[in-house]
Amino acid sequence: MLLEGVPASSGIQIGTALLFHREDFDVPTYTIDESEIEKEIKKFESALIQTRKELEEIQSKIQKEMSSIHAGIFSAHILLLEDPMFVDEVKKEITISKLNSAAAVKNVVQNIIDQFSTMDNEYLRGREADIRDVVSRLIQNILGKEKIDLSSLKKEVIVISHDLSPSDTALMNKDKVIGFATDVGSKTSHTAIMARALEIPAVVGLGKITSYVKTGDLVIIDGNRGRVLINPDGEVYEEYLIEQSKFQEFEQSLSMLKDMPAVTLDGTHIELACNIEVPEELSSIQKYGAKGIGLYRTEYIFIRKRTELPSEEEQYESYKEAVEKVAPEAVIIRTLDLGGDKFASSLGIPADVGSMMGLRAIRLCLQYPFIFMPQLRAILRASAYGNAKIMFPMISRVEELRLAKVMLDQAKSELEYEGLPFDPNIEIGTMIEVPSAVVTADILAKECDFFSIGTNDLIQYTLAVHRVNEEIAHLYEPLNPAILRLIKQVIDIAHENGIWVGICGEMASDPLVVPLLIGMGVDELSMSPIAVPEVKKIIRSLTVEEAQKITQVAMSFSTANEIESYVYSEAMERFPDVLMWIDHRLH
Ligand code: PEP
Ligand code: MG
Repeated sequence: MLLEGVPASSGIQIGTALLFHREDFDVPTYTIDESEIEKEIKKFESALIQTRKELEEIQSKIQKEMSSIHAGIFSAHILLLEDPMFVDEVKKEITISKLNSAAAVKNVVQNIIDQFSTMDNEYLRGREADIRDVVSRLIQNILGKEKIDLSSLKKEVIVISHDLSPSDTALMNKDKVIGFATDVGSKTSHTAIMARALEIPAVVGLGKITSYVKTGDLVIIDGNRGRVLINPDGEVYEEYLIEQSKFQEFEQSLSMLKDMPAVTLDGTHIELACNIEVPEELSSIQKYGAKGIGLYRTEYIFIRKRTELPSEEEQYESYKEAVEKVAPEAVIIRTLDLGGDKFASSLGIPADVGSMMGLRAIRLCLQYPFIFMPQLRAILRASAYGNAKIMFPMISRVEELRLAKVMLDQAKSELEYEGLPFDPNIEIGTMIEVPSAVVTADILAKECDFFSIGTNDLIQYTLAVHRVNEEIAHLYEPLNPAILRLIKQVIDIAHENGIWVGICGEMASDPLVVPLLIGMGVDELSMSPIAVPEVKKIIRSLTVEEAQKITQVAMSFSTANEIESYVYSEAMERFPDVLMWIDHRLH
C-alpha cells in the first residue's frame, strides 16, 4: 500500500514499524458496581504512584544524558499528576458516575482540554500537550498495558504516530528511531521543522496512516517525495534499496561543497545561514558548510521549560552559547514568537484559526513586559560575546516596531546602569511576514537595519490558508504570483532604503524557488542546516543574469502551476540531480 503525504524531512529509510500513538486514547468504558468503587479508586491511586515513579526515572535519565532544560519538561508533568483538582475530580467521577477508573480519567481530562481550548491565553493552551502526555501514560498504567519508551528502544524502528508530542521527541533516541510518519502536520508545521532539526527522514500529513499500519509491518519512508509504502512487494522493496543508496551517494557528493563559498557562476556572494530551533543543532552549522544563524527560534527555550518562564539568566546562557559558537559570524536572535502551531501541533489538532491571528509573537510580548524585558536583556547581554542581531516577529504596523525599540532602549539603559556589558549598536531587524508589513515596507525600512521575510506566515496570511491544515495544503502556494510579487516588492524597497534583506521561511531552501530569490536580489537565505548543501549547489550552478531572466519570465505567468512548470524546466537544465530528489507529484 502506498500513502502520499507531505515530505517533511529528506532521506529514505526502510524498516520495521512501531505504532506509537493513535488519535484517541483507546479506553474501555463501563459502569461499575457500588462495591467496586473502592477497588477502582485504589487502581487509580496506584497508577498515579507508578506514573510518577516512571516520570522521575525519565527525568533523571534525561538530566544525566542531555540537560536540565530537557528534564524540566518532566517536572511539569509530575506537577499535573499532583494537581488536587484533577485527582479529586477523577475520584468523584468514579464514585458518582460509577465509571471504571480509566474512563473516569479520560472524561475528566477531556473536560480540562475542552476548557483550555476555549481560553484566550496561548500559554495556558500550551498545557494541553502536557496533559495529553501524562494522561496517556497514566491510562496505560491503569490498564496495565505495555508502554513504549522511545528513549530505550532495543531495535531500529520507524515510528508511526498520529502526531509526536514534545516529550516524545525529547526522548527519541536518534540511533533507534530511523524515521517517522504522522497522520497530521504540514511542511511548515512544528513537527516537520523538528524532524529536519533532528535530521530524521519523515513524512507528515498522511491522514490515517495509524489506521493502516500495525507494529512489525515493513515500511518505507520516502522523506524526499512524501511517500510511505506499507508492506511493499519484493520488486518495490528492491527498487527502494537502490534508491536509498543513490540518495546516499547524492548526499555524499553534496558534502564536497562544505568548504566552498556560496557564490553564483558570476561571483555574486549569497549569505547562507541556518535556522536553529534547539541548541543541539549548533554543531550542524559547520558540518553542513553554513556560517551564521539567520533565525534563532527562541520559543523552544520557553516551550521546553513549560511550567514557568525561563529566567533571564537561562536565556542569556543559551543565547551566549550560540553567539560564541558562531562568532565572528552573525546570530540573528528572534524574540519570542509563541502562538499558532507552536503548541497545538503536538496535540494532533490544527491550531484554531483565531490563534494564528491572535495574541501571538510581538503582540504577546508587548502586552506582557514581564516576559519581554528579561528576553531583551538576555539578548543584549549575549551580544557582548560576538555578533548578535535582534529581530522582531509578526510586525504588522510600525507602532509595534517603535514600541519594541523603546523597550529595547530601556533594557540597554538598565544594563548600562548595572554595569553589564552589551553591544550598544546591535542591529535591529523586522520580520516581514504579514501583508501589511509588505505594503508599509518603506515606512518600516526607515526604522530598522534589516528585513527578514518569513514566507511561512506570509503565505498563510496573504492567501488566507492556515499553514498547518493538511486539508487545504494544496492551496498553500509558495509560487502564487501574489507571493512572488510581495517578496520582490520587499527586496526592492529594502535596497532602495539601503538595508539588506534575508529570507528565513521554508521557501529559502526550496530548490525551485532559490533561482527566483537570487534573481530578485535577496542578500541572505536562512534554512535548516541539512538543506544548506543543496542550496549551495543551486547557487553555484547559475549566474545572477540567468536568475534575473528566469524571475522575469516566471513573474509574467498568472498561476502558481504555470510558474512551477516553468521554473521546473529551467531547473532541470541546470541542476537535474537535485530535482531527482524532490516531490514529483507537483510537476
Ligand atoms: C516564517 O513565518 O516564515 C518564519 C520563518 O517563522 P516561523 O516559521 O517560526 O513562524
Ligand atoms: Mg513566522
